[in-house]
Amino acid sequence: MAEGALPMPSILSVDVEEWFHILDVASAPPIETWDSLPSRLEGNFHRLLDLFEEYRARATCFFLGWVGERFPQLVREAAQHGHEIASHGYAHKLVYQMTRDEFYADAVRARKILEDASGTPVVGYRSPGFSFTEQTRWFPQAVAEAGYRYDSSIFPAPRAHGGMPISRRAPYRIEGLGAGLVEFPMSVADLFGKPMCFFGGGYLRLFPYPLIRRMARRVLAEGRPVIYYVHPREIDRAHPRLPMSAARRFKSYVNLASTEVKLRRILTEFPTVTFRDFLATYAGNLEPAYVR
Ligand SMILES: [Zn+2]
Repeated sequence: MAEGALPMPSILSVDVEEWFHILDVASAPPIETWDSLPSRLEGNFHRLLDLFEEYRARATCFFLGWVGERFPQLVREAAQHGHEIASHGYAHKLVYQMTRDEFYADAVRARKILEDASGTPVVGYRSPGFSFTEQTRWFPQAVAEAGYRYDSSIFPAPRAHGGMPISRRAPYRIEGLGAGLVEFPMSVADLFGKPMCFFGGGYLRLFPYPLIRRMARRVLAEGRPVIYYVHPREIDRAHPRLPMSAARRFKSYVNLASTEVKLRRILTEFPTVTFRDFLATYAGNLEPAYVR
């Protein structure tokens, strides 16, 4: 990315979903049952909002459309506190498990629910599980057609669901199919010659903070924003667990107690902004990439 006038900020984001919105496990409850399950969202999301308030930080909140429908007051509240309302789709489905038409319908439905609840335009999209892959080349154009202006669905490293290791790393402006959409690949840095993420979900919980900080400084020094992401369930040590294999249990629940501590250190040491605010400053500096 071309050099900006200001030091590169980081981007703070939350995927606003319930404790049971875990992908690719057999025990994940079907959508028909979500209404009847105990909710942990309000308490956990409020804890996150309070934490952000303490540091005067603003986040992009990628709400699941289903969540926006059940808890419109949470969407409103986040917007009133200056956070950006964005979309995580409606039904928390992996992109590559939907047809283009199914994806489009899900993405439009979520955007409308969230715009109604917040009274603000919703221009950002992030797919469940960063599941834009080589299999779904139609994705950027469908996101743009569904009314979004930027996307945060690429994981430029190998990953269980999704992953697109060949992606460029810096945010870029799409030309060709999906023209006008800005793509923000998730932040990765090389460790032992391999691209790795250190900045969200299980990765943020797993790695020790000094390593996260070192890798964050490296990404910023390369002229890219560090994109952080958390889920409300990750600051809730006591949330119910879904049954799953030992390996998945480790990824889903390791070091839950460390999330808040690490977030506090990040917010103390790094200036963070929302995607919307990042674009307001840097949209003109993004390099174009031709998609066909
Ligand atoms: Zn999700």
